[in-house]
Amino acid sequence: MIYVERDGMDDAGEVIRPDDAWFQLAGNATATAIAEQNKHEANKAIYAHTKVKKALERLFHDKCAYCESKMTATADWDVEHFRPKGRVAERENHPGYYWLTYVWENLYPSCQHCNQRRKDRPRWEDPTELPAGGKVDQFPLLDESTRAMGPADDVHAEHTLLIDPCFDDPEDYLGYDPTGQIFSLNDNPSGERTIDVFHLSRRRLRDFRRETVVAVRSVLKLIANGAIAANASAANDLNAFLENMQAGKSQHAGLARYVAKHPAEFGV
Ligand SMILES: [Zn+2]
Repeated sequence: MIYVERDGMDDAGEVIRPDDAWFQLAGNATATAIAEQNKHEANKAIYAHTKVKKALERLFHDKCAYCESKMTATADWDVEHFRPKGRVAERENHPGYYWLTYVWENLYPSCQHCNQRRKDRPRWEDPTELPAGGKVDQFPLLDESTRAMGPADDVHAEHTLLIDPCFDDPEDYLGYDPTGQIFSLNDNPSGERTIDVFHLSRRRLRDFRRETVVAVRSVLKLIANGAIAANASAANDLNAFLENMQAGKSQHAGLARYVAKHPAEFGV
C-alpha cells in the first residue's frame, strides 16, 4: 500500500475526479440518503458510475488501493466504501455510514479479494486450509466510543485503525520480508488490523509480491556491482529502472520502496 493524493492531477494538470454533473447527482443522492437514514437503499448506478470508475482507475493507476495489484485488465473490481455504507461489523446497532455512500473521498478502487470475504485456498507446496478474510463491512476503531453514528457526528474525530491510503502514509506502518509476506512495522496496531481486515497476508498475494522482491533485489545487486558502477550509462539505466519500480504507477510500489530502503534485509 502507498499514499495516493486524492486531488492528484493527470499529465495535462487536470484534477482527477468525476465531473461537476456527477457531484450534483451525488449531492442529491446524499440528501435522499440522509432523509431516509438506515432505510436508504444504496444506488450503485451513482456511487459506481462510469465517471467514478474511470477517475479511480486513473488516480490509482489501475491498482487496488490496498494490495496494489494491477486489477483492471483481468478482473472486475469494486468501488469500495472505506467507511461501510450499509452496516458496520464491529457495531451491531450501527446503521452504516449511509451519509457517505456518494462521497467521493469515501470511495476507493478495490480488488474483490481485499474487499469481499474470500478463502485462502491451499497451494501446491502448501496444502493447508487457512481462514477466509476480506473487508466486507469491517471498520474497526481503536476507541469505539468515538464512532460516528450519524451525519451530525464528525468522522474525523474517530480513532480509526485502518490505514487510509489517501490520508496516512502506509509506508510508516507496513514492512515486507524476503518471501513477499507483509508485516506490521514494530507490531503497530494499525498495520496489524489493516493486514487482517484486507487479508493482505493471503498466500497468492504473498507469492505474487515475491516476484517484485526478486526483481528489485536483482536490480539492487546489479547497481552494487563494481563493473556496472564503472559504466555510467548502464548505471543510469538501472537506476531509472529501479525508480520506475518504486513509482506510484507500478504494481507493489510500496514493497519495491521497502526493499530499496532496506537492502540488507534482502541479502543485498
Ligand atoms: Zn486488493
